[in-house]
Parts: sequence; structure tokens; C-alpha cells
Amino acid sequence: MRTSDEAGRGISVTDPATGETCGEAPDMRPDELDAVVGRAHRAWAGWRADAAARTHALSGAADAVEAAGDGLARLLTREQGKPLAESYAEVARTAARLRYFADLAPRTRRIGDGRPVRSEVRWRPVGPVAAIVPWNFPLQLAAAKFAPALAAGNTVVLKPSPYTPLATRLLGSVLAAVLPEDVLTVVTGREPLGARLASHPGIRHVTFTGSVPTGRAVAEGAAASLARVTLELGGNDAAVLLDDVDVEGVADRLFWAAFRNCGQVCMAVKRVYAPARLHAEVVEALALRAKSVAVGSGLDPDTRIGPVNNAPQLARVAELTARALADGARAAAGGHRLDRPGHFFAPTVLTDVPPDSAVVTEEQFGPVLPVLPYGSVDEAVAAANGTGFGLGGSVWGTDLDRAEAVADRLECGTAWINHHAELSLAQPFAGIKDSGVGVAGGPWGLYGNLRPFVVHCPEAP
Ligand code: NAD
Repeated sequence: MRTSDEAGRGISVTDPATGETCGEAPDMRPDELDAVVGRAHRAWAGWRADAAARTHALSGAADAVEAAGDGLARLLTREQGKPLAESYAEVARTAARLRYFADLAPRTRRIGDGRPVRSEVRWRPVGPVAAIVPWNFPLQLAAAKFAPALAAGNTVVLKPSPYTPLATRLLGSVLAAVLPEDVLTVVTGREPLGARLASHPGIRHVTFTGSVPTGRAVAEGAAASLARVTLELGGNDAAVLLDDVDVEGVADRLFWAAFRNCGQVCMAVKRVYAPARLHAEVVEALALRAKSVAVGSGLDPDTRIGPVNNAPQLARVAELTARALADGARAAAGGHRLDRPGHFFAPTVLTDVPPDSAVVTEEQFGPVLPVLPYGSVDEAVAAANGTGFGLGGSVWGTDLDRAEAVADRLECGTAWINHHAELSLAQPFAGIKDSGVGVAGGPWGLYGNLRPFVVHCPEAP
């Protein structure tokens, strides 16, 4: 791995649990990308040539990530804020992605259309890939991009968020020890570094995870070179509780589907719709958990919910909550910042929220959950589908057939019954509407980094 290490230019990284600086990363100038992308292009010829060597290198990379787990997990918690146990789980998922894609190969296919021609579809790598990643799961989201891209035979330039560059830089140096030079390069810096990377003429695929507005800017940038884009964007997932739901039986799962990683999960539950008859019971069950959960530094072993990652995100969460309260909502739990250093916001459950309040219609991406009552299932489905987002959704009830029939009506990429946000490495992951373009995950993620190459050859007479 190479990084830009010019003296005197750096990004200072804040520990969100203390508000203090916890490290520094290089602030690369956009024009320095030309050399990085040029090296990625030159490294591509060797890397694409030998599929068996790639499999071997990527399994070795998975082992190396696991061996470096302690250092990676601690650094991740320092800069991101999540509880240490969750950082370890993220490191494990990073290694799992490498291992999964190491063993995945595209299938060459024969096509028969009745003519005496042998047509074969082979798969070729596209070229250097730009991977641009947000701050909520810096390592696992990076691996979800570079593992399939590398397995497909491409080289990768990876740019983490300036809020969380440290663990990714360490990951880059761990992988540099097992991958050929310039096959994976980590670059760090402030904007317009990402914009320049997305629009760089040497990049053939931009795989981006982040917010909807930045996703649009990335697509516009990539259009200049007609590079392929895969966009995994925001979500505003609804959980629809049916009238046969066992509230106490699902409350823990529902709570953590909303509050894991301090609510900073693209496919967290961000709105709950409960039948009017059960609404008060659902609010109470969630508020009880929000009031009693341990909030603190991710390095404290008792902590279950850490801080919000950064000051602008904290300000946004506080503003959406204040607006909802001003519009007539009531905080059944939380509703305010915690009076301590760092970026802490009390786990918040909101009731009496006007359905058109921004905390319902927009993505809050923090520890704040509105719970809304509904009259009929049709009304609940219409409300769940009624935003510009379409990432995931879930339906909760005891009659599984009925729950599945309701889930089938959700307009999103993944629907869950009685749980939320659990993914398999082997499944396609795709948002609809504003939540994304393209497909990641499983074989679909591999093919997203390949192009078909067709050879027609006359059959021997
Ligand atoms: P963001 O869009 O602000 O930033 C994402 C990345 O893009 C960062 O690395 C950032 O530095 C970079 N960037 C900023 N401006 C850019 C530009 N003009 N061109 C290219 N790159 C640019 O998002 P964020 O605040 O870091 O992350 C939170 C968002 O990510 C939420 O909306 C969340 O839902 C979304 N997200 C989506 C998924 C998914 O899989 N769908 C997963 C995780 C997070």
C-alpha cells in the first residue's frame, strides 16, 4: 500500500467519545491521484492474469486481517465510537468478505441459438475500481467493495471518510504485506479528493456507499468518463408491526434493529408503525430499553451504545429531534444531548410524531426512533412505502404467512420478517428509488466488477 505522507498536511481525527484528537491521516491533494491511479493501472496487468494466485492472496489477506484483529478493532472504536465488541465483529466480517470472494469465480457460459456457432460468454475485469466509503462501518463496507473487485481481477483505490481514516489505513498496511504492490491503495483526504477520484478518467468502476446527495454527485462525476457506478445510499427503513405481534417477545430485537451502532446503520429500523391498539405498549417497551441501555465510550466493556460519530451528524440528529418536538411530538425516552464531553445523544423514542415530520420522512441516521400508530394494514404499507427511500423494511407478527404477504408489498431491496438488517454474504444487496443503483453482495457483487466478453466461433464441420 502507498499513502500520501507529505509532511505538514494532515487530517486530524476526533475520538467521538471524548471530543479529543486521536490521530492524524494524510490529506492527499486531488492531483496526487493521477500517480496513484496510474500505478493501479500498471498493477492490473499482473493481478488480472492469474485467478489461482488471486484466490491464494485473498485467503491470505483474510488470515492477515484476523491476525491484526486487536489493533484494528481498538483503532476502529477510537475513531468511530462503536463498542469494542462491535468493532471486533466488524473486523471478523471484513475477513469473512475476503474469504467469501476469494473462492468465488465467474461462470463461463455457452449460448446455443440453433446456429452452427459456438458462442461463449467469458468474464473480464473492468480495470481500476474506486471504492468510496462512509464512516459508519469503515472496514466492513470497504471490504464489501474491494473483496469482490479484487476477486474479479481489478485493482482498487480505496478512500475512507475523513472522519474514520485510521483503521482503514492500518487495514491497508496489513493487506499490503500479503497483496502485490499497488493492487490496493488507500488514499485519505478531504474533499474534493473523493470527487476527483469518482471522476478520474483512469477509473472504470466507482463503487460508492454514502448519502443520497453525495451519491448523485458521484454519478455525475463518473459520467464524465462513463465509468460504471454502484451506489449504496441512504435508507429510511420501516418496521410494520401487525396486530398479532408479541410486543414483549420482539421488543429487544426491534430495539437493537434501530439502535445498533447508535442508529448509524443504512438499513436500521428508522420508523416503527404499530397498530393503534398496540401503539402505547410498543412505545413503552422501546422507551424502557432506551432509558436503561448503557451509553458511553466504546472502550468501556459495559457500553452498548456509543457516541454519534461526528459533530455535523450530532447536530443533524439534534435538529431533527428538536423540530419533531416543536411540531408536537413527545419524547418517551431521551430527546436531548447528554451533558458530557464527546458526541453523545440520549437514545430517543418519539411518540405523537406528525407523519410529515422530517424525522419520519428523512433519514435521521442516529439514536432516534419515531413510533407511529396506524389504522389498517393498507395504511401502514402505504406509509412504509411513502418516502423516497427503498433500502429495506420489515414486518413483525406471529402468523408468518400473513407477515410474509405484507412484506411482499414493501417497495425495497430486502424485506425481513420478525428481524431486520441481517444479511447473508451470498445474497444480492440493492436499494431501489433513492437508496441505490446497481447490486452488491454475493455473485451479483462479483459480476458487478466484471464485463461480459463474448467469443463466437464456427462449430467444426
Ligand atoms: P457521505 O455521502 O457524506 O460520504 C460518503 C463518502 O463520500 C465519504 O468517504 C466522503 O468523504 C465521500 N465524499 C464526500 N463528498 C464527495 C464527493 N463530492 N464525491 C465523492 N465522494 C465524496 O456519507 P456519510 O455521512 O459518510 O455516511 C452516511 C450515509 O451513508 C447515510 O446516508 C447512510 O445511509 C449511507 N450508508 C448507506 C449504506 C448502504 O449500503 N446503502 C451503508 C452505509 C451507509
